[in-house]
Parts: sequence; C-alpha cells; structure tokens
Amino acid sequence: MELFDHPEHDGHEAVTFACDRASGLRAIIAVHDRTAGPACGGVRMWAYANEAEALTDVLRLSRGMTLKNVMAGLALGGGKAVILGDARTAKSPGLLRAFGRAVDGLGGRYIAAEDVGMSPADMAVMAEETPHVAGRGEAEGGSGDPSPLTALGVFEGIRAAARHATGSDDLADCRIAVQGLGHVGLGLCERLHDAGAALVVADLDRPRLAQAQVRFQAMVVAPHRIHTVGADIFAPCALGGVLNADSIPALDARIVAGSANNQLATAEDGARLADRGILYAPDYVINAGGIINVAAELGGRYDRAAVEVKVRAIADTLTEIFQAAGDGDTAAVADRIALQRLAALRRPMDAVPA
Ligand code: NAD
Repeated sequence: MELFDHPEHDGHEAVTFACDRASGLRAIIAVHDRTAGPACGGVRMWAYANEAEALTDVLRLSRGMTLKNVMAGLALGGGKAVILGDARTAKSPGLLRAFGRAVDGLGGRYIAAEDVGMSPADMAVMAEETPHVAGRGEAEGGSGDPSPLTALGVFEGIRAAARHATGSDDLADCRIAVQGLGHVGLGLCERLHDAGAALVVADLDRPRLAQAQVRFQAMVVAPHRIHTVGADIFAPCALGGVLNADSIPALDARIVAGSANNQLATAEDGARLADRGILYAPDYVINAGGIINVAAELGGRYDRAAVEVKVRAIADTLTEIFQAAGDGDTAAVADRIALQRLAALRRPMDAVPA
C-alpha cells in the first residue's frame, strides 16, 4: 500500500496510523493542511473492506475538510480520522479512549469531531483522554450533534439551487429524492416536508424507511433506484462516490444537492454532470453547517442563533459558485475559489492590495 505515491495523497502534512491491541483500535488520522488553523474534521467509524480503502477515504476526506473549512471562512485546517470497524459491534469505551489518546499524541494539530458512526456521547468518552475534541453534548458544554445544522445548510442550499435553476425557491411542488435517512437525511426530510415537497427515499435501514413513510408520507424505493426515480432534486445523504460514470447517465434529476461527503467519484464527474445540464451543489460547500457549528464551539462563546445565520449564508456562497460556473462545472469552480483562498492565506502580504 503506497502512501506518498497514493493517487489521493495531496501533500498531506501527516498521516498517523494508530493501534491499540487491548481495545482492537485500528485508526488512521490524516492532517492535510493547517494553513488556516488546527486541522479539524470528523471521526468516521466504518467497516472498510480493507486498509487500502480506509486510507483512500481518509486522504480524500481530509483534503475535502481543508477546502470546506477555507470556503466557510473558518480558522481551521483540514483533517479527518477513520476507525476501521463496524460502529454497531466494534465500538467500546476502551476503543474510544484509545483513539482519544492517539488524538492527544498529536498535540492539538488535529481536533476530532463527529462523523458517520459517532455520537456526542462517544465524543465525550474520547474527551476523557484529550482536550482536542469538539461536538460533545450540550450538557458537557459542547455544541451537541452537528447534524441538524448540516441539515439546515443543505435545505438552504437546495433552495438556492432551485432559485438558480428555475427562478423560484418554492419547494411546494417539488419532488425530491433523498438517499440516506441518517442523522442528516431525516432532519433534511423534515424541513423539505414542512416546505411542501413530495419525498422519495431510500435507505438500507427498514425502521428509518418506515419512519419516513409515517412522518413525511415518503415513497420508498430500492437503494439502487433512488437516483433514477425521476425527481426535480436528488439529495445524496449517505456515503461518497455516488456520482460516477455509471450513475450520472442514469440520473433523472435537474439538481443534485445533498450532505454526503465526496459525492463525485472522480474530478471528471463534475464535468459529466455539467454536460448533462444537471446543476450540482458542491458537497463541501453545501454540507458545511456541521463544521460551522463545531467551529463556534471551539471559538469559546457558543451562540446558536449566530451559528444559524452563518449556516444560512451557505446559500449565498453556492449562488456565487453557480453564477461563476455558468453552464460549466460547479465543482471545479468551487475548488478554484477554495484553493485561491488558501493560497491567499499562505501568502498574506501578496493578498493585500498595494
Ligand atoms: P448516518 O450514518 O447517520 O446516516 C447515513 C444513512 O445512510 C444511514 O441511515 C445508512 O443506513 C444510509 N445508507 C448507507 N448506505 C446507503 C445506500 N447505499 N443507500 C441508501 N442509504 C444508505 O450519517 P449522517 O451523519 O447522516 O451523514 C450522512 C452523510 O453526510 C455522510 O456522507 C457524512 O459524511 C455527511 N456529512 C454529515 C455531517 C453531519 O453533520 N452529520 C456533516 C457533513 C457531512
């Protein structure tokens, strides 16, 4: 398994492999870039098929965090961690504490937050071993689960995309296909339902599907069909790589806007979407609500109302990207803007007009 020559290695500052025999911990922590501040990003616990898959995921996700944080104007760099294992069966207090010690060993270069497979209670266990943890429960002085803020940002992003594509952000007559009914997906469905949208949903988890049928009168389809059902908007809220050379030709939606990280399997998939006339809301722009919430907690004076204002502003950032892209590749435009901002931070004097 290559690291420095790995296709997803992008000059990452440090990649740490952590192991604890007693608890069975096997984790990889990737610090991509600390230009804007300490690297911050979620901890994902997932049953990866093998170590190579986990390494690819953490390298891509940590780079995505650098772009996400700089685009959201946060004083945070990009990092991410993955724990190899099934969160439903392999997670234990001992494993979380061992992971906390691994984070502590990085001396604050990486701040751990929540991602798939983690809860505020898990973050509290990690925090017994290190102060470099965000997203603890509100009772412990943290900002709680970031997912509702992520869902708010995605909802506002969907409205911005609809406004750009159709001239109206009224979702009352929209049909929206939501892939994944987890922490973000269900919260998003609630907002979309309240706005009058008709929902089509898919998940691997039957109780969540049943919940969506009862609460939102959602139509349920098989996971492999969700992007093809014929909808105004497709909202990927499960895992990455769903927009690829196979799925894009079959996509039956005018807009793609959802919370999942790394939605594009490859950089070329952004152009594939543009070529089909599908408006894509770049993932790390639309899903920044959670990290905006975490950054407010780290800032010391957590003010939920101020956070919501900042999260709603994701819509403005997306509108700028849509306008700059015209009929072109919105993902490429987002990357260009984020990398320009990063370069300006690296050379602060160059960025100041003479
Ligand atoms: P979650 O684990 O709570 O939910 C994911 C859901 O997707 C689960 O219900 C799972 O059963 C379902 N799923 C998995 N594979 C599927 C498939 N093939 N088809 C349909 N459903 C499938 O995760 P979450 O916290 O809701 O996050 C969802 C996505 O959003 C992830 O990609 C995550 O990285 C991203 N994200 C989350 C946040 C946040 O605040 N939670 C912030 C930014 C980005």
